Amino acid sequence: MPDPVVVLIEDEPEIRRFLRVTLTGQGYRLFEATTAAQGLVEVGSRQPDVVIVDLGLPDLDGLEVIRQVRGWSDIPIIVLSARGHERDKVTALDAGADDYVAKPFGAGELLARIRVALRHGAGASHDGDAAFQVGDVAVDLLHRRVHVAGAERHLTPIEYKLLTTLVKYAGKVVTHQQLLREVWGPAHTDQGHYVRVYMAHLRHKLEAEPARPRYLLTEPGVGYRLTTE
Ligand code: CA
Repeated sequence: MPDPVVVLIEDEPEIRRFLRVTLTGQGYRLFEATTAAQGLVEVGSRQPDVVIVDLGLPDLDGLEVIRQVRGWSDIPIIVLSARGHERDKVTALDAGADDYVAKPFGAGELLARIRVALRHGAGASHDGDAAFQVGDVAVDLLHRRVHVAGAERHLTPIEYKLLTTLVKYAGKVVTHQQLLREVWGPAHTDQGHYVRVYMAHLRHKLEAEPARPRYLLTEPGVGYRLTTE
């Protein structure tokens, strides 16, 4: 396996230095850009396995980078965003980013996100694993069955669709908008409460302590993440 290639688009020198040390230390090949324009050239020429992009760039909004890359590529894109700007995260994910990491972040958190992105990037070519398992929860996608600690749980069609949508993006955050679009359809994207109500049902069926979920995690102000470990 060749070393994974990462293109980093970030204008802050401290963050670039931190990522350079972290990523090259883990065997990644890193190419850096400090502007959106330079970043788009790097993404087009280096054939990266993952793109990491800051939202606040000197020439163009990072969102515009995401939209342009999505015009011709499904490369996993991870966004770096300032903590507390939930709207930015949501907009970035809806524009086609795969995940986001809030600044300030630790090396461990970023590396975990990159591993998830690489798994998804590699998985895209051989679509459709027949089963998903995390902890006590097993989802048999072939037979549409869900077990928790070996006991079958009966889900309604909507609950099952919600769960399999989260399975499709396992390890990554999925926005309320994405869930509404994929589970209920594009006509229902303003019905945010649907997601909350059905997520509560799903937690009661799958979680030992629904109020303190271990698998179906809330990303405040953004959406949900089904954990993979
Ligand atoms: Ca910046």
